[in-house]
Amino acid sequence: PVYVHCGSDSPGSSPFPKAVCPPPRYSLYARTRLGYLFYQRQVKKARERYPHGHSVPQPYCFPGVKILPIPVLSNNYSYLVIDTGSSQAAVIDPSDPLAVQAAIEEEGVMLEAIFCTHKHWDHSGGNEALCQKHSSCRVYGSALDAIPRLTNPLTDREKVTVGCLTFEALATPGHTVGHMVYVLDGGPFGSPPCLFSGDLLFLAGCGRPFEGSPETMLASLDVAVSLGEDTLLWPGHEYALECLTFASLLELDNSALEQKLQWAVQQRQEKRSTCPSTLGEEQTYNPFLRTHRPELQEALGLWQAGGEDPDAFRARVLKEMRRRKDLYQAT
Ligand SMILES: [Zn+2]
Repeated sequence: PVYVHCGSDSPGSSPFPKAVCPPPRYSLYARTRLGYLFYQRQVKKARERYPHGHSVPQPYCFPGVKILPIPVLSNNYSYLVIDTGSSQAAVIDPSDPLAVQAAIEEEGVMLEAIFCTHKHWDHSGGNEALCQKHSSCRVYGSALDAIPRLTNPLTDREKVTVGCLTFEALATPGHTVGHMVYVLDGGPFGSPPCLFSGDLLFLAGCGRPFEGSPETMLASLDVAVSLGEDTLLWPGHEYALECLTFASLLELDNSALEQKLQWAVQQRQEKRSTCPSTLGEEQTYNPFLRTHRPELQEALGLWQAGGEDPDAFRARVLKEMRRRKDLYQAT
């Protein structure tokens, strides 16, 4: 999340479950026109500051499919996913419509579908302009999130095809109530599955549970993990460096983490993108996927109470980890 999201809990009029009180500034961003104006300013600033994008995109190609990360705003990624046989394409989370349109023209493809992971402007702000330009383009997402121009609301496990590409939508609430991730079936192309994780999961990090409890967020992270170790992770933000740095403060003796951090430092020095990683490697260093690990529980000063349900305990671990991450970010 690139927007302002600090501050104390909101008062009793919250529309969210009792345990979940998003900060007041979050509600301004997510629920009012002020948020849209703030987003427009972000787009303008980022275009000035990064005329060629915040990172150097590295296209991923398998026979029949091409995935092009599009760096937008100051640390977001949109993804153009192309069926190279038919030149039909889908875009995940188009935030800056100009950057996405430029990629569409450069690749010479037809935009058939927009997949939105959630309603936040830095993921959905380009829907309107792209739909005006591509009149037959469908917009997919959850009906539970107020996604601009939504034409095809999806339910959990629903599949959508675009040319030869098949995407499966998975409901992963927590960051927002309607957050969804999309899994591209790599089978027909001899590729591993590709997970477009929005603000659920980042390299070494996870999104803030603005609209869900730690239990809800944990269940959603477990859905991602269940996809299998070879799955490629394409997250909604370039947060690798700060997430790995935070993780290394929690785990002092994790060689996988140390190596990934060193690698990420190198990549970022040259402004190279750090995606994709795999879900297998994420489980070796991403603390938010390691709530079951005793060394992390100990580092957080948490112990499972007698008779405490293992998932309830892991949710407690996740909550404390998230709290520390937020404190770390605020400094
Ligand atoms: Zn978000």
